[in-house]
Amino acid sequence: MTFVDDLCAQLRARGRRVTPQRRAIIQVLQEDHSHPTAEQVFARARRVMPDMSRATVYNALHELVEIGMVREVDLGLRERHYDITTGEHAHLICLECGHIEDVPYDPDALALPRERVPGFEVVDCSVVFRGYCPACASRVENQDRASE
Ligand SMILES: [Zn+2]
Ligand SMILES: [Zn+2]
Repeated sequence: MTFVDDLCAQLRARGRRVTPQRRAIIQVLQEDHSHPTAEQVFARARRVMPDMSRATVYNALHELVEIGMVREVDLGLRERHYDITTGEHAHLICLECGHIEDVPYDPDALALPRERVPGFEVVDCSVVFRGYCPACASRVENQDRASE
């Protein structure tokens, strides 16, 4: 069973519809680990299925997020991003080129100081490192040197 088959089976098991359009959307997400926005998913899905509508993409993303198969990540950028990797991980964001990368982290290293916030129930925690990817960092450095 492929990853896409598996996700489709999970959708079906939870009483959701699996249409050829949804299959194409899942395929797009599976092939794209760049954390695309809904518009980017729409553009890519339309390349595979030209009659794909924007509403179909938005509804499918919404349902996939609802059942926990896709994570909606708010990275503090203008739009929300969709992530097929749902396990614990942190994100690196390049402030120059906008590249978003997954990076593993140890959730225990980030334990909430329980005694400070008694009774608070955590449902989500996001860790984002902002900075410059190696390519951008070296370009920025070269520009600095050139302007000296
Ligand atoms: Zn960069
Ligand atoms: Zn991610």
